Parts: sequence; C-alpha cells; structure tokens
Amino acid sequence: MIVIFLGPPGAGKGTQAAHIVERYGIPQLSTGDMLRAAKAAGTPVGLKVKEIIASGKLVSDDIVAAIVEERIEADDCASGYLLDGFPRTIPQAEMLDAILTKKGQAVDAVVELRVDEAVLMDRLRNRIKETIAKGEKVRDDDNEETFAKRLQVYREQTAPLIPYYEGQGKLRAVDGMQTVEAVSAAIDAILDQIQG
Ligand code: ADP
Repeated sequence: MIVIFLGPPGAGKGTQAAHIVERYGIPQLSTGDMLRAAKAAGTPVGLKVKEIIASGKLVSDDIVAAIVEERIEADDCASGYLLDGFPRTIPQAEMLDAILTKKGQAVDAVVELRVDEAVLMDRLRNRIKETIAKGEKVRDDDNEETFAKRLQVYREQTAPLIPYYEGQGKLRAVDGMQTVEAVSAAIDAILDQIQG
C-alpha cells in the first residue's frame, strides 16, 4: 500500500503518520526528517540543504526525488509505505509516478488533511512551547516568520497537487479540524478499504 500524506505544515501529518505506522505496519518516509538527518550527519546533501530548510523554501526536486528513490528500495518498504512531505511540487509528483511506473507500482491513495489556515499559527506556537517544555531543541524552521513562508510555499507549490491527484481519482480528503482520534478513524476507514 503506497499512501501519500498531503496538507499544510501543522495539519497534523506527523501525529497521524505515527498512528498509520502502528496500525498498518508500513514505514513513514518523511523527506523533512530525512533531510534533517542528512544535515545532522553533515553529509554533502545535508550541507547543501541546511540554509534552504531554515529559510522555509523547498529543496530542489532532484535532490528529494533521489533520496526517496533510494529509500523505497529498502526491505521495510516491500509491502508499502507512507510518504510524508513528498511529493511537494507537481514535478516531484511526476517524478514519483515515473519511478513507480518503472517498478510496476502506483500510488494507492492520497490523503489530504484539510484544516483552516487560521488555526495553523496557533498550532505552531503550541508545538514550540511543548518542545521547549520537553527540553528539546526547536526546529530551525519552526518560528513564526519561517512558518509563514512555509505556508506560502505550500499554497503556491504544493496545493496544486490536490487537483493533480483528484484527476487521477486518488484524492481522499479528511477533515483535519476534528479531534486526533476522529481524524485517525477517518483515515483508517479510507486505508482499510484500500487494503481490502
Ligand atoms: P512540515 O512540518 O512543514 O511538513 P517537513 O519537516 O516536511 O515540514 O520539511 C521541512 C523542510 O524540508 C521544508 O520546508 C523544505 O525545505 C524541506 N523539504 C522537505 N520535503 C521536501 C520536498 N519534498 N521537496 C523540497 N523540500 C522539502
């Protein structure tokens, strides 16, 4: 089962991804996490993307597509995976389609978490507070200024994926304004159907 998670920053993708990983036993492939890991490890890619991530802009399509293409070859991806944060642009979606077609595979569903933009900034402020309370380091791009940039990038470059996947008949929208449990239940209903 190959599932894509779509939604603006702060929509709750990370929270719901953890639930899906547990319930369906497929790994979460977060390009954001992978890029942050590359940065922390100081790899050539990590050094290249460091400032781009901190500015809230997108890393080049080629870099992320290459990272994903390599990652999905791992054994744990054999029965499927959840893509979180990729694709984020139309060219990335086209690259993914090409990669999967080569392998005789296809995306099964695109789950879009729909939330009112008005709540996103509040969710960010909460996340920052919680992170500090836990004594953990706040992400470089988790501040109000960069977050506003990330939202703008989402609107301009990622939101066009909604009609793209609608056109493929794969889009499944979920109301992300409900409680965490209700959102999980709505996602389960969609994925249960796919798994059959
Ligand atoms: P969010 O919390 O906004 O979903 P992520 O953790 O997924 O953020 O990503 C953080 C940053 O990593 C992005 O703002 C971007 O700079 C970079 N990034 C992650 N995924 C991609 C991608 N598919 N294409 C380009 N850049 C990406």
